[in-house]
Amino acid sequence: MNPADATRVVQWNTTPAMIWFMYGTMVIALAVFAYGIWRRVRIWLLGKPKMRWDRPGERLKRVLIRGYGHANLLKDRVPGVMHALIFFGFVILFIATTVVAINTDLGIPIMHGYFYLYFQSLTVDIFGFLFMIGLAVAVVRRYILRLPRLEHGQWADAVLLATLALILLTGFMLEGLRIVATADPWAPWSPFGHLTGLALAVPFPGEPAQRTLHASIWVFHVALWHTLLAVIPFTKLSHMVMSPLNIFFGNLDDARGVVPSIDFEDQSAALGIKSVYDLTWKQLLDLDACTECGRCQDACPAWAEGKPLSPKRVILDLRDYVHAHEGDVLAGKAARDRGDTARYDEIVCAMPALAGGVIKDETLWSCTTCRACEEACPVAIEHVPLILQLRQNLAMDQAQVPEGVAEAVSSLEVRQQPFRGASVERTEWYQDLTVTEMASVEEPRDVEVLYWVGCAAALDPRVQKVAKALVTIMQHAGVRFAVLGPEEQCCGDPARRSGNEFHYDTLARANVDTLKRYDVKRIVTHCPHCLQTLKHEYRQLGGDFEVVHHSQFVRELIEKDRVRLSRKLPDAVTYHDPCYLGRYNDVFDAPREVLDSLGVSRIEMKRSRQRSFCCGAGGGHAFYEDASGGRINQNRAREAIATGAKTVCTACPFCLGMLEDGVRTVQPADGDVRVRDFVELVAEAIAD
Ligand code: SF4
Ligand code: SF4
Repeated sequence: MNPADATRVVQWNTTPAMIWFMYGTMVIALAVFAYGIWRRVRIWLLGKPKMRWDRPGERLKRVLIRGYGHANLLKDRVPGVMHALIFFGFVILFIATTVVAINTDLGIPIMHGYFYLYFQSLTVDIFGFLFMIGLAVAVVRRYILRLPRLEHGQWADAVLLATLALILLTGFMLEGLRIVATADPWAPWSPFGHLTGLALAVPFPGEPAQRTLHASIWVFHVALWHTLLAVIPFTKLSHMVMSPLNIFFGNLDDARGVVPSIDFEDQSAALGIKSVYDLTWKQLLDLDACTECGRCQDACPAWAEGKPLSPKRVILDLRDYVHAHEGDVLAGKAARDRGDTARYDEIVCAMPALAGGVIKDETLWSCTTCRACEEACPVAIEHVPLILQLRQNLAMDQAQVPEGVAEAVSSLEVRQQPFRGASVERTEWYQDLTVTEMASVEEPRDVEVLYWVGCAAALDPRVQKVAKALVTIMQHAGVRFAVLGPEEQCCGDPARRSGNEFHYDTLARANVDTLKRYDVKRIVTHCPHCLQTLKHEYRQLGGDFEVVHHSQFVRELIEKDRVRLSRKLPDAVTYHDPCYLGRYNDVFDAPREVLDSLGVSRIEMKRSRQRSFCCGAGGGHAFYEDASGGRINQNRAREAIATGAKTVCTACPFCLGMLEDGVRTVQPADGDVRVRDFVELVAEAIAD
């Protein structure tokens, strides 16, 4: 036998009526599929505008790497491999079907020779089998291991998985029956199909019986596949279309988790998200793109501690709500488009509020804005701005704010800092140091860096030690720095993250004006929340500054030999990545490199870098006691202590406070684990 002559009879054992049935049902399936997609698209089209068309090449690359290449999915090994087996199995089988169509319908005889043997027979057979393995793993995870993150939609999943398995199984049966009935000489090139054929030949011996069985299975196989094709847009499988789209239109900016600013001069401006009509088209697409994989829920610190928040449920509850009220939503849009304000208002008022109704207040207030969900999500869904905009509606439209947050915001309004009861002045901490204020600098351009102190360091006695350590280092390195002193106001992060955008706007505008007045070009801050706000969010108000975190700045000073470390520290240290430094700003290496230069033995926690676990302070949580569930900071403190390190290092004043509290609570009374900001260690190493 010459492999160059290898081929098979295409559409073996079919009649013209069967072929008509195949093409007829395919046309119907494609029409229903297109209608299903259109139903989704017409909902996205009613969303508010969002610019996500720029840099198409970069976007396409993301789809290829992150989507089809499974770059994100494979970070979670077992489900990642499971999805890859199903996905690539599907793709190969789809290509194989296309090859048959080219060969038969276009009359181009490509199912021949080595291509036929290596691709159309062997590769397709192996990938079909791997597809089944992927489905089996999905069944085990859902119905045997019963993973909590996969609990949603168990019945629907069962039907889909069974349908896919049946399509594959009947595919193997069709191949096997053809092989045994025609005594195909190339059978070994289709090992799984061949085995299936041999097994079927036992109860169905002889060609006539095999032909009859083949014809019945053929009709069933075609009907099942075309039914599945038709229902894809109406089921979870719609993510085959929506997920690549969502990745394509994902956020490419270096500013992450940022809400759009509100024009408070405009009386008609929406105060956060009140109804479906306040969502952007991208947020509506986000809802439909969710694959229900539960990775976000697994990563969420609030969920881990039993609080009433699952980022997956937030997305799915909103999606289910939009789908269930599709008719009303479209009727409202039609009324709005024809200028029928009364009817539009009537429809909006009749719908339950999204914030506080569809998504409960306590769910929204449980979020620490840590972005672990966004980092884990394989399809680039943006949970944080959505949750924050819903919070804006609670805070500004409904005046529903937890007590502690209300007090912090009221303090921001009166004293421009969020610590209630703090009576000290911002300038007190440096009265016994040589620290220059910008107002007294004759030539502001001679200032190398402006040290943005932040409220915590200025007002909290524990964090003041961190500020003093940084001042010691900068003075040792001969850095010409200055502070704003009494002119510095809270950057606005606690206000913005708690939905009080008006107060954020007031503080931010005042700070931008001050920084512009001094023509500040470079800012160093040791608070990652200030870093995020000054570096990325003041841009919305015209403030474009170079801002670096103190870990980056100190590393730079060490690299330039401006800081000389006179002794090595023998401690074993574990480093906690602050969310706003790592996941928001990609600063993972700088603090680690500084610690390494101190000679410490550094031990990583299991959840570190992009997968770091929140300390529990973000999103305004530093200012109120969330009574629901357990304590996020204690969860993290246990993990840090488990490393065996005696020093837990961090690089954020809020993480410092939360971890100190957590370590104090969970370690035994005679425990000796301490929590430090890494600059406190650097200051010790240059003390001699
Ligand atoms: S930002 Fe953090 S706390 Fe909020 S939903 Fe996402 S993972 Fe959970
Ligand atoms: S939001 Fe993303 S991570 Fe969460 S369930 Fe949906 S697809 Fe998975």
